[in-house]
Amino acid sequence: MSIKQNISTVIELLPKHVTLVAVSKTKPIELLEEAYNEGVRVFGENKVQELCHKQEILSKDIQWHMIGHLQTNKVKYIAPFVSLIHSVDSIKLLQTINKEALKNDRVIDVLLQMHIAEEDTKFGMSIFEVEDMLNSQIFLKLQNVRIVGLMGMATNTDSDIDIKNEFISLRRFFETLQRTFFKEKGYFNTLSMGMSSDYQLAIECGSTMVRIGSTLFGKRSN
Ligand SMILES: *Cc1c(COP(=O)(O)O)cnc(C)c1O
Repeated sequence: MSIKQNISTVIELLPKHVTLVAVSKTKPIELLEEAYNEGVRVFGENKVQELCHKQEILSKDIQWHMIGHLQTNKVKYIAPFVSLIHSVDSIKLLQTINKEALKNDRVIDVLLQMHIAEEDTKFGMSIFEVEDMLNSQIFLKLQNVRIVGLMGMATNTDSDIDIKNEFISLRRFFETLQRTFFKEKGYFNTLSMGMSSDYQLAIECGSTMVRIGSTLFGKRSN
């Protein structure tokens, strides 16, 4: 299958309200260009250096999403251009993003990454940590970051039921925040869940943004 066919197959399966993030990590520039020529404008990368390199080379109308774990000392490299950071998992990281956004005279949109999977290797915050952060004095002072939603990764398992339960619990928390902390804040509208193996389940469970790599670009070697 060609990238062109892969993209049209996936796009046909996505409801209008679901945004496709084409996860291009480890893939060469030419493949991103192919996807771009098929109309893809949102790309996701998980390494700062690779993200910056590709952003420099490729068309300036691309929206670049940082989807991987982000170290505070690397925020400065992506702050000038990144359009959404999916992986905020601490107030310290949020403060750094705020500081670098201010230097660039912009407001950076972010998602809070929630820990929903069984595996303890996956990054992310607990419900308690998120509530604590949103209630903190530090958070109130951050003017150059905007939390626009949540991101989560389900357990890597063959059990659709387990995956669905994790996605549904994430959606419930998302809706709780919409009714409470983000009441009348229409920008809090993004629920990033679903990858190649589980994006259709994620959409059934209320996802508004899917991060799809191997289904579009082929398997990665690492
Ligand atoms: C790699 C990655 C994806 C995409 O994974 P595929 O299985 O290739 O679709 C999605 N989200 C995150 C956070 C990733 O690191």
